[in-house]
Amino acid sequence: MPTDQVIIAGGGIGGLGAAVMLAQRGVRVRVLERAPEFGEVGAGLQLAPNVTRLLDEVGVLEKILPLSLAPSRLVFRNAASGEELTHLDLADARERYGGPYLVLHRSDLLRALLEAAEAEPGITLHTGHHVSGVRDRGEDVVVRCDNGAEFTGELVVGADGLHSTLRAELVDDEPICSGYVAYRGAVPVEDVDRRSSLDDVAVWMGPGLHLVQYPVRAGRLYNQVAVFRSQEYLDGEQDWGTPEELDRTYAGMCAGVRGAIPSLRRDNRWPMYDRRPIGTWTKGRITLLGDAAHPMLQYLAQGAGQSLLDGVALAGPLSGLGDGPWSAGDLARALEVYERERVEFAGTVQERARTWGDIWHVDDHVSTLLRDEVFRSRDIHDYHLVDWLYRPVDEPTLPTSTTPPAGGVS
Ligand SMILES: Cc1cc2nc3c(=O)[nH]c(=O)nc-3n(C[C@H](O)[C@H](O)[C@H](O)COP(=O)(O)OP(=O)(O)OC[C@H]3O[C@@H](n4cnc5c(N)ncnc54)[C@H](O)[C@@H]3O)c2cc1C
Repeated sequence: MPTDQVIIAGGGIGGLGAAVMLAQRGVRVRVLERAPEFGEVGAGLQLAPNVTRLLDEVGVLEKILPLSLAPSRLVFRNAASGEELTHLDLADARERYGGPYLVLHRSDLLRALLEAAEAEPGITLHTGHHVSGVRDRGEDVVVRCDNGAEFTGELVVGADGLHSTLRAELVDDEPICSGYVAYRGAVPVEDVDRRSSLDDVAVWMGPGLHLVQYPVRAGRLYNQVAVFRSQEYLDGEQDWGTPEELDRTYAGMCAGVRGAIPSLRRDNRWPMYDRRPIGTWTKGRITLLGDAAHPMLQYLAQGAGQSLLDGVALAGPLSGLGDGPWSAGDLARALEVYERERVEFAGTVQERARTWGDIWHVDDHVSTLLRDEVFRSRDIHDYHLVDWLYRPVDEPTLPTSTTPPAGGVS
């Protein structure tokens, strides 16, 4: 009989979240993280009500609340003119969807998940374990790490992010570069010369660019994400999306946007990738979650949230399998339930995130006029554009093909 029930490759938000949710349902879990410590990049994260509701259910919301803020508005502005076009009333959204819209530092969420995992006797955590291969032997699965360690389990879950090793067991695809790059980071709030209200998540949309701003760590830090389409990338340059290009790209924007750019850190930048949705995340005793399963552009601010939703969707059917051993047939049926709940929905979020970015980044005169007019004329109490995403999962409704995308931002 295998030593472990579930082995999770990757201890990011998705992997640790799934470990906690599985262990809370009585499943024994081992997490293998390649980094020497569990950790996250020094930037912010938005969590919409579809995600905070879940964190509440698993006892993590109370841990992050003291370090989070619940802004009142998600405001959209034209980055060139500075005009405010519309906003989503986030206090209203809380009433409507049963959970707050929170902004926080990524490491604060990761730490809360790690503490919750450490408190679960059914979870074994390892750092410094880079998963390099798996062998599905039919009655169990063997996971190999490049330090020589091997573990045997009933199921291995690839929660190993955009460049997933485990995904390659299922599908032969590559991350797709969008040609956009992000500069981001959270700095002391007093270091930002020009910032939006601390009560807002602000989105400034411009030609081939956007800037997002919001406070984190209970208002002590200010998070900014500046994203732009790189001409250097289009020109085929090796070193593209440079700090010089950042400055050039934002030079023509309004004073509020220009003033934010100098406080962005220049020492790291994130080229933006996604992949196309795939029809299955499972092969035998291997399954995927989070960015390994559905890497998406960040424009709906849902990647981490969707990875947490994967975790709870996996925990339900797996917990029904009991102590084990898990027969291949029973496991396949449990994973079918997981996939039915998640694959199509997450794929839709992936596709909609791309389109949402395209709407923000329009760069010709007529499209910009039309976009701004649509945003301006929107009733601020109209939630039909986010209902499909934020409503509880027991009322799952995918958007129709004519429904434009909307939601959070990042
Ligand atoms: C600019 C930007 C802004 C964003 N904003 C938001 C937002 O506001 N809200 C939101 O919900 N999402 C947001 N996202 C998306 C979010 O960051 C990701 O979707 C989320 O981090 C995915 O979590 P994950 O655990 O699946 O993957 P990852 O965070 O990539 O974690 C994978 C983990 O696996 C480990 N690993 C990798 N390979 C191996 C291996 N072979 N063996 C062992 N360990 C391995 C890695 O070290 C890492 O710890 C944003 C993304 C970007 C780029």
